[in-house]
Amino acid sequence: MSIALVEKLFTVFNVTADILKDELSCTYLEGLAETGENLFHEKILQEELSELTERRLLKAYSEVNLEEFTKEQIRQAFQLAILKGMQENVQSNHQMTPDSVGMFIGYLVNKFVEKPAIRILDPAVGTGNLLATVLNQLDKSVESAGIDIDDILIRLAYVNANLLMHQVQLFNQDSLAPLFIDPVDVVVCDLPVGYYPNDVRAAEFEIHAKTGHTYAHHLFIEQSARHTKEGGFMFLVIPNGLFESEQSSHLHEYIKNNLIIQGIIQLPEAMFKNKQSAKSILILQRKGEGTTPPKSALLVDLPKMSDGPAMNRILADIDSWLIGNKK
Ligand code: SAM
Repeated sequence: MSIALVEKLFTVFNVTADILKDELSCTYLEGLAETGENLFHEKILQEELSELTERRLLKAYSEVNLEEFTKEQIRQAFQLAILKGMQENVQSNHQMTPDSVGMFIGYLVNKFVEKPAIRILDPAVGTGNLLATVLNQLDKSVESAGIDIDDILIRLAYVNANLLMHQVQLFNQDSLAPLFIDPVDVVVCDLPVGYYPNDVRAAEFEIHAKTGHTYAHHLFIEQSARHTKEGGFMFLVIPNGLFESEQSSHLHEYIKNNLIIQGIIQLPEAMFKNKQSAKSILILQRKGEGTTPPKSALLVDLPKMSDGPAMNRILADIDSWLIGNKK
């Protein structure tokens, strides 16, 4: 039943994104952002459309009423349409964080962060899928912010947040430039992996490489830490080789001085194209008054999430680790 509803809403996004793509001579993803705006505002916002096109759009929109869908159904339908758009026009920087990772991070945020009201930041928010998946799961009052350098992805994140009625402040900029955001309790981020080309800006970070380009994913860790409150948490999707690269000594040093490694959760390899592209979730806490390192970090190899019994065992292990490490 719920899959049928997701499909129904996906079909409306898909058909109308295609109509707008043709009429506005834009990409499918741009058409999707336009149609998402129309659905949210309950009117057609594009002025240059013919009467016939307007009628076709209105007919498609009349098939659904957003109030009949849960937030997860809306997120999933919009995500399916984004995936379709990304397949049509493949760009290496257009990568969405898979649902299962977002759901697991949402679970961890609920478990690790005890405050009832939090501010959360995703400094590489992309399409907003990771942030939206986490927000849909949180049992807390939340204010959130997202940043991305890609203007089409951030537009999709904006439309996504509107459709889901999430309160998100979004910024279209380089996250490694100065950020004008209040300190947050939680950072969630699927780190962009690769070299950061701006050496001058990289030099403003403690973690920068002394020669050549610094890894963007390292700089993102320092930038995230700078904007996290003392005692706040960071849940980062990292490449598995993070601590083994030629630049990792700076990273080790920075983490030792400023952060506490709470845990590393290795995601199932089957989720990735190959072993080299496999990732983990790194859980860090910013040092501050009253923070203490765990007796031993939480180290977990996550089974396939479809393996219910194995997942339940791991969740039970995480629960006992948390109980054992609470003061
Ligand atoms: N979590 C996102 C989602 O669910 O759509 C996907 C994140 S994707 C793995 C990494 C993102 O980092 C991309 O959207 C890319 O545009 C962004 N990015 C890369 N370098 C950046 C920078 N210097 N500043 C801001 N965003 C950046």
